[in-house]
Amino acid sequence: MSNPSVAVLGLGIMGSGMAQRLLQANFALALYNRNRDKYHAFSGAFQASSPREAASRSQIILSMVSDNGASRDVWLGEDGALSGASQGSLLIECSTLTVDWIQELATKARAQGCEFLDAPVTGTKPHAASGELLFLVGGSTAAFAMARPVFSVLGRDSIHLGPIGSGALMKLINNFVCGVQAASFAEAVSLIKAGNLDLTKATAILSGGAPGSGIVKRVAERMAANDFEPNFALRWMAKDLAYAIECAAKREVSLRTASAARSVFEQAIAEGHGDEDFSAVTKSAA
Ligand code: NAP
Repeated sequence: MSNPSVAVLGLGIMGSGMAQRLLQANFALALYNRNRDKYHAFSGAFQASSPREAASRSQIILSMVSDNGASRDVWLGEDGALSGASQGSLLIECSTLTVDWIQELATKARAQGCEFLDAPVTGTKPHAASGELLFLVGGSTAAFAMARPVFSVLGRDSIHLGPIGSGALMKLINNFVCGVQAASFAEAVSLIKAGNLDLTKATAILSGGAPGSGIVKRVAERMAANDFEPNFALRWMAKDLAYAIECAAKREVSLRTASAARSVFEQAIAEGHGDEDFSAVTKSAA
């Protein structure tokens, strides 16, 4: 069976890697990015002038943009993708967003006769480029089956968690746990420095011992290499913590550690580190 035609909306760090993978796997690809300069790396794909134009050529329309506002713009804004999507097409929202927004968008998609999945991902820049993402999926079994050709090229696995919004909620839970660990490691670095301990020895003890989770190791490695080129921008970690807190509050759950971590990340943004990798939080916490 031939591959479905696919539109990718958003050619940021993640979307550009995903689009390259689909191109390499010979999918007919239509692209949309707000900043057209990003098209130059995608000569084999159709470069759309609007999300609507990209969607109108595609059976599957995948969005990978920064936040709720960006998602609203690409789907529902002027010449938005939903206005170009044909009946029976599949819309996949892969960005990390709130459950409320996902449900609103899914309702609009269904009203237009489209299938919809929320399918945010774990993994970062290299995993997007190498097809090793993990998709956390909410939506119907039929829509999940339709998405398989795309998930199998872009991901190491895809997990169907339940109805619309389940993927979004799981992703926020995943990232708030990551954000809390990164913020606590950043505060540990502040205390190591204030206590005049050897930073290399102290971080090796943390990384190699019980606190040495995958996320703590990743942040410690970036700090040791003084490399804060973004794989995952610090401002998006702050966004994910805010969205997790909001989604939890609606379910009468108070994420107190996420709130503390969020203030650590907001301080780092105020100090000018928002566009650096989230591991730059270690430059800030004091
Ligand atoms: P990014 O590099 O900052 O890219 C953001 C994308 O959103 C760009 O294509 C940008 O377009 C677009 N955008 C922003 N505002 C827009 C608007 N109002 N209208 C249209 N397009 C808009 O972000 P990323 O790292 O690829 O992350 C994308 C999503 O994946 C986020 O939700 C993030 O939380 C999530 N995520 C990221 C990672 C990671 O490791 N990076 C991992 C898992 C999940 P321009 O180029 O025109 O600015």
